[in-house]
Amino acid sequence: MNIGIVGLGLIGGSLALDLRALGHQIWGVSRQERTCQLAIERGVVDHASVNLKLLAKADVVFICTPIAAIAPTVQQLIPYLSRETILTDVGSVKQAVVEEVAPLWSNFVGGHPMSGTADSGIEAAQSNLFAGNPYVLTPVETTPSTAVKIVEEIVRSLTAQVYLCCPEEHDRAVAWISHLPVMVSANLIDACMSETEPAVLKLAQQLSSSGFRDTSRVGGGNPELGVMMARYNREALLRSLTTYRHNLDQLIKVVESQDWQVLDNKLQQTQLHRPEFFC
Ligand code: NAP
Repeated sequence: MNIGIVGLGLIGGSLALDLRALGHQIWGVSRQERTCQLAIERGVVDHASVNLKLLAKADVVFICTPIAAIAPTVQQLIPYLSRETILTDVGSVKQAVVEEVAPLWSNFVGGHPMSGTADSGIEAAQSNLFAGNPYVLTPVETTPSTAVKIVEEIVRSLTAQVYLCCPEEHDRAVAWISHLPVMVSANLIDACMSETEPAVLKLAQQLSSSGFRDTSRVGGGNPELGVMMARYNREALLRSLTTYRHNLDQLIKVVESQDWQVLDNKLQQTQLHRPEFFC
């Protein structure tokens, strides 16, 4: 299959590596000439250009740019596509993207791979990033079932687990397990940095180990991604953040009142519930 990738960064580059290894011909388009050169040198793509015209022969195109650039990219790409070309994206927010792109191109299937690292750009691209992880597709009433089937087959070939849901449900779900954690984790780093005693801050930095590495990971990632999550999934994120603030206030009261039994009950519950998120 001829597969086009626009945006040769962490996600686009990683998709290109896996799909090329599966025998597809990969046509990559990125914003910078240097990224295109690196993508060729590293064997990420077969062909690369800064010009969207390169994708004229593509059967399926993955749009892997930052969220704000997805719809404008589709608009610029349309003049070069044949009617049968299937477009899909990898944006972390779906409702805003699908609402903008579906009216532009009917053969469009919204998508979101639930995989990532704290790094960005073509240098961060890696093989097998999607293996074993969820990959959500968010077709709407107007999405042709053949387009969904083809994107689904490609995603399954990456050995990712395919989930189908509507864009709104996707955004509410990822607000809990992806966007809220980014904000909480970033706030954790921020709160630690507000320690006023330099010697204590230094010691905390020296003593931090696996626990802090785990809890600070998503807050220490690509800032552009966090801003996009908040900007394009504002409503669902605010709902989750408000609930989180309420829970935090309750936790403060429990600790202030030294009600260790209540705290123990709460932590027993969270210990029980955590595995339910990884079934
Ligand atoms: P990234 O590493 O920064 O890659 C984005 C790439 O897009 C950049 O390398 C840049 O290429 C290119 N680009 C930017 N504007 C462009 C434009 N107007 N036209 C063409 N290319 C453009 O970011 P990423 O983490 O891969 O994220 C890309 C998408 O994946 C986002 O929509 C994000 O929501 C989604 N996503 C990210 C993660 C994650 O954990 N990172 C997970 C799932 C989904 P140049 O190098 O040429 O400038």
